[in-house]
Amino acid sequence: MKKISLDESSKGFTGLIEKISDQNVNVCYQCLKCTAGCPMVEEMDYTPAQIVHAIRLGVEDMVIKSNTIWICVSCETCSTRCPQGLDIAHLMDAARNIAFRRGIKPPESSGAIKDFYKVALGNIRTYGRMYELGMIMSYKMKTGDYLKDMKLGMKMGMKGKLKILPVKTKGAKEIDRIFASVEKLEKLENEGKP
Ligand code: SF4
Ligand code: SF4
Repeated sequence: MKKISLDESSKGFTGLIEKISDQNVNVCYQCLKCTAGCPMVEEMDYTPAQIVHAIRLGVEDMVIKSNTIWICVSCETCSTRCPQGLDIAHLMDAARNIAFRRGIKPPESSGAIKDFYKVALGNIRTYGRMYELGMIMSYKMKTGDYLKDMKLGMKMGMKGKLKILPVKTKGAKEIDRIFASVEKLEKLENEGKP
């Protein structure tokens, strides 16, 4: 993991991210429970607790240029573990949102991460929620990289995070409608219409 540098601090970032996520990062006392439970931490350049700390310090560059915010799969394990009730997954969402607004693309944007998001969103659209095992299988078929992350997959399986069969939520149809509306808006935006 990298160390946090204060040289990159940026005024107003903490307030902006708190506003978007509706969270108060000052409640964090760095117990590291979020980091300890994160199934993706080994792939991240900064841990979830480091990202929270950097947000508190207003170190925008470090947060929005980290691979952590893109590697995060929004599983919310960190949020449920936080003794202070901080929704770290929402902070990650807000950081991605700001990164997009600043024109920062995910590292390897044309490769693995882009494929991953495509597969993950397709999965959520189909089932109304994340079906992790199905998503992993689709992703592996798309990339052809069957052996990478096997250790991580086994670890997630042992922690009970990979259900064998998908469970479709009651609201799956509404989720599908949301995706369709977003697609429509994106199409209009690409055509330059408001
Ligand atoms: S679990 Fe909560 S309080 Fe502990 S380090 Fe993570 S964000 Fe901070
Ligand atoms: S929501 Fe993101 S940061 Fe939190 S535990 Fe899941 S992958 Fe890790």
